[in-house]
Amino acid sequence: MTQKVYKYVIVGGGVSAGYAAREFVQQGLKPGELAIFSTEEFAPYERPTLSKAYLFPEGAARLPNFHVCAGSGGTKQPPEWYTEHGIDLYLSTEVKILDVEAKSLTTSAGATYKYETVVVATGATFVRLADSGVPGADAQGIYYLREIDDADKLLAAIKDKKDGPAVVIGGGYIGLELTACLVKNDVKVTMVYPGPHCMPRLFTPELASFYEGYYEAKGVTIVKGPRATEFEKDESGQVKTVKLKDGTTIQADIVVVGVGAKPRLELLKGQVAEEKGGFKVDGFFKTSVPHVYAVGDIAAFPMKIYGDIRRVEHVDHARKSAIQAVQAIKAEEKGETIPEYDYLPYFYSRSFDLSWQFYGDNVGEAVTWGREAAQASSSKFGTYWIKDGKVVGAFLEGGSPEENKAIAKVAKEQPAVSSKDELLSAGLSFATTI
Ligand SMILES: Cc1cc2nc3c(=O)[nH]c(=O)nc-3n(C[C@H](O)[C@H](O)[C@H](O)COP(=O)(O)OP(=O)(O)OC[C@H]3O[C@@H](n4cnc5c(N)ncnc54)[C@H](O)[C@@H]3O)c2cc1C
Repeated sequence: MTQKVYKYVIVGGGVSAGYAAREFVQQGLKPGELAIFSTEEFAPYERPTLSKAYLFPEGAARLPNFHVCAGSGGTKQPPEWYTEHGIDLYLSTEVKILDVEAKSLTTSAGATYKYETVVVATGATFVRLADSGVPGADAQGIYYLREIDDADKLLAAIKDKKDGPAVVIGGGYIGLELTACLVKNDVKVTMVYPGPHCMPRLFTPELASFYEGYYEAKGVTIVKGPRATEFEKDESGQVKTVKLKDGTTIQADIVVVGVGAKPRLELLKGQVAEEKGGFKVDGFFKTSVPHVYAVGDIAAFPMKIYGDIRRVEHVDHARKSAIQAVQAIKAEEKGETIPEYDYLPYFYSRSFDLSWQFYGDNVGEAVTWGREAAQASSSKFGTYWIKDGKVVGAFLEGGSPEENKAIAKVAKEQPAVSSKDELLSAGLSFATTI
């Protein structure tokens, strides 16, 4: 039997895959040239929706409304879009083997395909407490979130156990967003996280105290410090309580865990170079092996603005890295070159009626402005990070699109600043007048 050969193959069907497909089409794609393989049963969608509007009790987001590229103001790409453009979309199809020497892949159903160029976009998966041996972590009623399937299971649990209570483990953005969704669904929530405050990798203590105060005012109980060390189940295997290291026991009908993600590296492991926990790529997302590209959460790429190599798990980078890789592939075919990837880190989160954006690097000295006035959700406040006399990072809660653009410009241009007080008194106007 002759094997099907594709000019391009994308392995993974998430955010990067969807944006890469659109870029292939925009650059000129002939029918039958591109195939996408995804373990998910849905065409690529905007994953961040899952911890936000997908879980709302009213007006919830549902497919096809959040297929890529809806999240960045583009056209939605439902499954028909792929058909119309002659793209073979293999859904519910896991790629088990990717052989970069043979330029072939094998699916879990045993089908084998050949390709000329592959873009690997397998993303990340959640870290499971059971993997680190937490007793009882295999109980029913413990939920994680990465894909629609996970979100549907959580929704069913919310409906089933309407009055909770729930324990959310983890104080990162997933924990915070999911807590907000549970509260909107009238579920009583206790958040548990180690460390001094929520979002420790980004928030300063001042920023964190605002968000923690806001959540507490919404009825959320926050337990900081002790880790969850054990889950007790009832006779049916359903979780009943969460035990913390300090001996505290919290009753829980639902447990939601958001303790981090790990990139899915299995397919290329040992075949291409790795760095910083991801696949090492250049400014065009080429791996160490010709015709093999890695994009999105799995790529460790040169962060030109800071002169180092980083791996980033943000949706904005997933979209932009995919576009960059496809442009590089098409340019190479024409014997042309494109500029290297020049990414400005950008991350955002939304919960309740809060919404923040962050651009740049959160290194050096942090200066938080407007925090004293920030009592209500309508308040605006933010943080600048100063390194070597320059502002290198900026965070803003409640900014308008223009104000968010202004803080992005600050992080990109890194203006000099004479003193911390200059930023404190100028606040947002430091950014808007640049
Ligand atoms: C719930 C949630 C909320 C988020 N919210 C935000 C946010 O507010 N802001 C932000 O900046 N970022 C957010 N992120 C992060 C952002 O969604 C990711 O950075 C982005 O989705 C990464 O895109 P990707 O294409 O690399 O991976 P993914 O979108 O995860 O896609 C990977 C795809 O590959 C598939 N796959 C994996 N292995 C195989 C295989 N062997 N064969 C076939 N298919 C395979 C997976 O099933 C999946 O479909 C959020 C993430 C999650 C999980």
